[in-house]
Amino acid sequence: MKKKRFNWKNYPNFSRAEFECQCGCGRIGRHPENLARVLTSAEKLRSLAKRSVNITSGYRCPTHNKEVGGVKGSYHTKNMAVDLWVEGYGPGELAYLARKAGFGGRGRYWHKAIVHCDSGPVREWDEYR
Ligand SMILES: [Zn+2]
Repeated sequence: MKKKRFNWKNYPNFSRAEFECQCGCGRIGRHPENLARVLTSAEKLRSLAKRSVNITSGYRCPTHNKEVGGVKGSYHTKNMAVDLWVEGYGPGELAYLARKAGFGGRGRYWHKAIVHCDSGPVREWDEYR
């Protein structure tokens, strides 16, 4: 990602480290415009919840995405998705706030107490295990 096309300073409550691939490859993805959209919504979500947003998965390289059982071409590989949790909020409330914050897709992962949020079409689903 070219530095001039993306400025983390625009998103003061988040860091590159939180969004980079967790397999250790250090990659952050190749779609800065998508990442900017996700981060804008994440900042809005933080404002709505009035609490820190904790990221459990941001960008995933294709190899890591396969390892964690992500669907091929997952929005995580395109800088279009983020998995998160906020202290004091359950997945149901978070999914509701995430829509207000501008996210389209929202998956409530009840067993992990996280919500998958993406900038794809508006839809929602539940996962229990
Ligand atoms: Zn990776």
